[in-house]
Amino acid sequence: MRKVINNTLRIFAISAVLVTTLLVFLAYYVQFTLGEHNEIRSRAAVMASCLENYTTERALDILHNAYDKATDVRVTLIADDGSVLYDNEADIQSLENHSERPEITMAIEKGEGERVRRSRTFGKRIYYYAVKVKDGTVLRIAQPTGVAAGMTMGVLPIAAVILIAVFAAAFYISKCLTRNIMEPINSIDINNISGAEIYDELKPFLECIADENEERARTEKIRREFTANVSHELKTPLTTISGYAQMITNGMAKPDDISEFGSKIEKESERLLQLIDDIINLSRLDEQNGIEDAEIVDLSHITVETIRALEKTAKERGIQIYYSGAPTYIKGNATLIGELVYNLIDNAVKYNKENGKITVFAGERSDGAELSVKDTGIGIPEEDTERIFERFYRVDKSHSKKVGGTGLGLSIVKHICACHNAKIRVKSEVGKGTTIYVTFPSVSAKNQTS
Ligand code: ADP
Repeated sequence: MRKVINNTLRIFAISAVLVTTLLVFLAYYVQFTLGEHNEIRSRAAVMASCLENYTTERALDILHNAYDKATDVRVTLIADDGSVLYDNEADIQSLENHSERPEITMAIEKGEGERVRRSRTFGKRIYYYAVKVKDGTVLRIAQPTGVAAGMTMGVLPIAAVILIAVFAAAFYISKCLTRNIMEPINSIDINNISGAEIYDELKPFLECIADENEERARTEKIRREFTANVSHELKTPLTTISGYAQMITNGMAKPDDISEFGSKIEKESERLLQLIDDIINLSRLDEQNGIEDAEIVDLSHITVETIRALEKTAKERGIQIYYSGAPTYIKGNATLIGELVYNLIDNAVKYNKENGKITVFAGERSDGAELSVKDTGIGIPEEDTERIFERFYRVDKSHSKKVGGTGLGLSIVKHICACHNAKIRVKSEVGKGTTIYVTFPSVSAKNQTS
């Protein structure tokens, strides 16, 4: 970036100086040439008005006396038929008729004429100015025009030295300017952007980096916490299993206890397997950006199937499940949606009271396809309603463990909702019960058939 800014400034400075110099030279040249021409014109006008007072013979005498030895200017007097009467630099006998020369023709017609051309007599670029004298003759003054160009070229060496000095100064200034521009950028601490004094134009970019840093730090923290929690959660059932197994191996367990120890080992192993299943599911969802194998599925059909699978467990605690709904189509992954419905109804069973009630609805609402699961269970304190979706967060740890919870069910539900652009909402009252609402985007009739 430093290089780009520095080079841009240098190129700009060099071009600006070169263009300015060229234009100054051009203006100088034009001005000087115009000045030269003006001087010749006024000289001719003065001479012509002097000659008007005399006869042609007298005028020729005057010209002989005044210009025969002049070298800086060529003076010619031409008769109205084009024949040359006087020329201070050439022998008039050798000169052809001048009536065809444009400046002479113009002077005869309009009173004056001018032209710049290469003189056949002298082989130089000459400015010719002709003016008509009252007796019909034409007085022409000619002077080489290379003076302006010569003088302009004369200043070139000085101009070159000045240009080199200006370029050197421009290079130095561009280096300083680049350093000044880059200083605030170089001083940014990418890990601590909040207080940085920086250009307004760069602020959105830096804010974006700051947000990304924050998100990265947050994800890293969650990942570390999750790893610590997983280790802890795995350790507890394994310690229990290992303890009972050791007692049996060492012969410390009485024969009557062996079956009880065995069933405890079995229960803890099941919990362990459930935990591992949930962890695998979560990490699979973590890696996934959106839904794989999306299809149009009937939410009510999945719900009815899930209720059927959980009915037996519910009945064991005297819990009744009531269902209402109608075919409701959503776009998603059937397995994931089945898991979501299962986790919600399973929680409604686990955290319900003995002989409680569960009311499930799956159907179209004005804002989308809705699934709601309402129970008459222990409820969730208001301050916990947001946190229950965190990994391993349980309102009552011992209760959750007693009912075989892993603390991951609702995290999985939240993840599945996110994949399906679904919204989730909790309404709960401690001691009375909980309702969880999930609203999926509706699928239009056109999509259902496709
Ligand atoms: P768990 O495996 O412990 O059930 P979840 O992630 O499914 O984990 O739920 C997190 C916590 O939210 C549970 O431990 C429980 O305290 C609370 N919870 C979830 N659903 C309900 C419910 N229907 N009624 C009361 N509390 C609930």
